[in-house]
Amino acid sequence: STSQIHNILIPTTAPQDRRPLIISGPSGAGKGTLIQKLIDTHPHTFELTVSHTTRQPRPGEKDGISYHFVSVETYNTLKHNGDLIEDAMYTGAFYGTSKAALAEILDKGLIPILDIEMTGVQQVKTSGFDARYVFVKPRDLGVLEERLRGRGTESERDIRARLDRARRELEFAETAGVFQRIIVNDDLGRAYAELEGFVFGLG
Ligand code: ADP
Ligand code: 5GP
Repeated sequence: STSQIHNILIPTTAPQDRRPLIISGPSGAGKGTLIQKLIDTHPHTFELTVSHTTRQPRPGEKDGISYHFVSVETYNTLKHNGDLIEDAMYTGAFYGTSKAALAEILDKGLIPILDIEMTGVQQVKTSGFDARYVFVKPRDLGVLEERLRGRGTESERDIRARLDRARRELEFAETAGVFQRIIVNDDLGRAYAELEGFVFGLG
């Protein structure tokens, strides 16, 4: 069911589909913004799976909230102990989802949201992980570059690497047939409504 307030349809029930939600897309596409909005709007339904990474925290990023920020040594230990369900190298750093991070959310009866890049998506898909797959993309690469620069969190060199990677990620989304929904994040409100509609099975 939905409730109608100011002509906006707001889902009031839990999603029927309780599978983890995998959200992928090029850096700067707006994944984090959309995920945060989904979690803020439905805090008793979704929770972000906190990945491990060896990259440096950005200003404002807190350990254990955005990521578990770890050394390469700690990361390798997790990986070699089989504690990660998927893992990737992305622009010079390692990123991975731990079994523990996922279990913590499932134990609370909430729906995990995984924000992971393309090679991680391929790994979880191949392993038969039952999930829903969504890709978020910008209108074009020019917009992506503007957003990455506007965010101001990466060096020029890192922005270049992320844009280079974006081309391959966009091609992957078009050709791999992994994603149930590809959302163009142009107008944020519209993109969010599409995501929410998909997740709650309304649209
Ligand atoms: P990602 O998590 O995919 O790397 P972010 O959510 O950090 O991307 O978004 C990248 C930048 O673009 C941020 O500064 C964010 O505020 C901005 N942004 C996100 N969505 C939109 C949008 N629809 N229109 C304009 N700017 C946006
Ligand atoms: P950022 O450095 O911008 O936070 O993330 C860079 C990229 O790494 C993004 O595409 C993001 O989706 C991806 N990422 C974040 N955590 C993980 C993870 O645990 N596994 C994988 N495979 N990718 C991740």
